[in-house]
Amino acid sequence: MDARLYLAKPFELASPSEVVKVRLRKGEYQVVLRESPFEPENPEGGRRGRIEGPHGTLTVRRVTWDGNQRAAIHSGEMEGELRAGDDVVAKVDPSVRRHNGAYHTVSHLLTSIARELWRADFLGKLALADFGGFLTLFGQAGRAAGWQEVAAALERYIGADIPVLIYSLPRGEALERCGRFFESVVPNSVAEWRVVQFEGTSFLPIPCGGVHVPNLTAVRGIEITGSRGSGDNLVLQYKCDYVPAS
Ligand SMILES: [Zn+2]
Repeated sequence: MDARLYLAKPFELASPSEVVKVRLRKGEYQVVLRESPFEPENPEGGRRGRIEGPHGTLTVRRVTWDGNQRAAIHSGEMEGELRAGDDVVAKVDPSVRRHNGAYHTVSHLLTSIARELWRADFLGKLALADFGGFLTLFGQAGRAAGWQEVAAALERYIGADIPVLIYSLPRGEALERCGRFFESVVPNSVAEWRVVQFEGTSFLPIPCGGVHVPNLTAVRGIEITGSRGSGDNLVLQYKCDYVPAS
């Protein structure tokens, strides 16, 4: 089983686990767990959550994925001590997860709208900043595309009751359903694709390993605040607001 729990249980925020390894690197503690609810791929820093053990707590500031060890590395500040073999509870900060999930889900929504509007394949790349997100759409629009069209089409989805489905598909079926476009995007070695789909919409599912909100009702407002570029390299800047996770 993959040690990254969020892939299979995307909306679970806490998990009992066990400490596998602890090391001190340049004044910062790094902890490896048997399994982890944290998502390691998100690069942004800040308070990410806590790992609580019988003798101490790690405040998690950063989570990275070590491909060689096939393990998430939780880095941060230690209070007390965590030791290999300790039973712990790993807790993702709900507000951080919701923030990242909302922005990330909206990036899929904008990409899907662009894909449908311009009948072209796009790949969205999201960069998060304190004040909002930047979504770069890499694709094949073949003509200058205006963000106003996206903003107009977006209106009906803001706050709509649209569940965000996450499931896995074998590669062949995933290619059929997501689009052949992704053949060159997802490595051949990935036999099972994790895909994300907006239920009840005409949008195609999207292969993705990120974090999401469970329903678009969790996103209260989406505002496109700027754009630059056009055609096959369009950057949309946006803000969104979201209902706090309960
Ligand atoms: Zn995603």
